Amino acid sequence: MRHRIAVVGSGPAGLTFARVLHRHGHPVTVFERDPARDARPPGGTLDLHEGLGQRALDKAGLLAEFQALSRPEGQAMRILDTDGTVLRDWRPRPDDRANPEIDRRQLRDLLLGPLDVRWGRGVTEVVPQSRDGVLVHFADGRQETFDLVIGADGAWSRVRPAVSSAAPQYAGVTFVESSLDDVDARHPDLARLIGDGSVAVYGVNRALVAQRNSGGHVKVYAQFRAPLDWDTHLDRADVEAVRSSLLALFDGWAAPVLDLLRHGSAFVHRPLYVLPVSHTWTHVLGVTLLGDAAHLMPPLGAGANLAMLEGAELAESIATAPGDLDEVVRAFEEQMWARAGRWAKITTAGLERLVSPDPAEALALFDQVQPS
Ligand SMILES: Cc1cc2nc3c(=O)[nH]c(=O)nc-3n(C[C@H](O)[C@H](O)[C@H](O)COP(=O)(O)OP(=O)(O)OC[C@H]3O[C@@H](n4cnc5c(N)ncnc54)[C@H](O)[C@@H]3O)c2cc1C
Repeated sequence: MRHRIAVVGSGPAGLTFARVLHRHGHPVTVFERDPARDARPPGGTLDLHEGLGQRALDKAGLLAEFQALSRPEGQAMRILDTDGTVLRDWRPRPDDRANPEIDRRQLRDLLLGPLDVRWGRGVTEVVPQSRDGVLVHFADGRQETFDLVIGADGAWSRVRPAVSSAAPQYAGVTFVESSLDDVDARHPDLARLIGDGSVAVYGVNRALVAQRNSGGHVKVYAQFRAPLDWDTHLDRADVEAVRSSLLALFDGWAAPVLDLLRHGSAFVHRPLYVLPVSHTWTHVLGVTLLGDAAHLMPPLGAGANLAMLEGAELAESIATAPGDLDEVVRAFEEQMWARAGRWAKITTAGLERLVSPDPAEALALFDQVQPS
């Protein structure tokens, strides 16, 4: 019998799972809360690692298309001191394909392909019914029953409570995201500062990072340690008020660096939340989690990669294993927990060093992970 499988969430985890299952000829339904594929801005560029995100795309039969779309030159990384001195200027070799960048929208479209996504179908609750399947409640009042529900619905998962009482906690660091458009024509000095990839400037308990996306679009992240209520006095809709308060936070930094904030458009607040490192749960028949829903961790280049590899591995195991579906899910969870636990430790320690009282820590971390 074909299993009735529902995926909740059309992020990297849910789409990779669905695409690999689809490749193996298995029907799968993806339920997404957003009303349409372009209902909200997709967010910044992602680097996909050879052994993680790229492996997942290979399992989905999409590696060649990824290689054609992605930007290997986007791996370039420049590090500046707060006075504007260039401390590191790393560029990849022309044949380096270890971590090429891709826009989230491009990745999503690549994964979507022929998939059947039910847009505007937000899930409110998932209730396991023992051997009778899992009841899924939707925001529109409808209910459907499935043999397996995959919670790929991100940080604030509505599926997670069916297996775990864990909730994301504030990590003590906030990102405020801004954008520059058409940077090469409109801000050539900043374009040169950023180069082909990213530029990062590390100060005491704060950092400014700018990352090139395709088409001359740049995302700028002001990153700082602060209590969650650091901006209660601010009207977040007042762009100039937010800009002034960020410029005050980064007061004393070199003028060309602060231009990243001066020219940025609307500001989006992204306080970082994390789940406990090594989050696991007692296995529940018919429900599992993937990606951020299972192991939300600091955004240090691993989250989407893990989400995709998990999606691909679980789908492949379901499609190819002759055994019981529940046994397949149990084995997958053990493997996911072990790997995600290792990455959660790495990224948690990494965040401590990148947004740190001692900016030399960030440089030391870069030297550790970046081949010279
Ligand atoms: C600033 C920043 C930079 C990052 N950079 C990188 C990077 O370079 N590399 C990297 O690997 N990772 C990066 N990450 C992490 C990465 O974005 C996440 O780990 C990744 O998106 C997780 O994928 P996911 O599919 O698990 O969840 P998500 O991408 O969050 O997708 C969840 C989906 O579920 C939908 N959804 C939510 N609730 C419901 C519901 N109730 N019903 C139905 N649908 C629902 C959402 O609308 C969404 O489409 C970054 C994160 C941030 C914040």
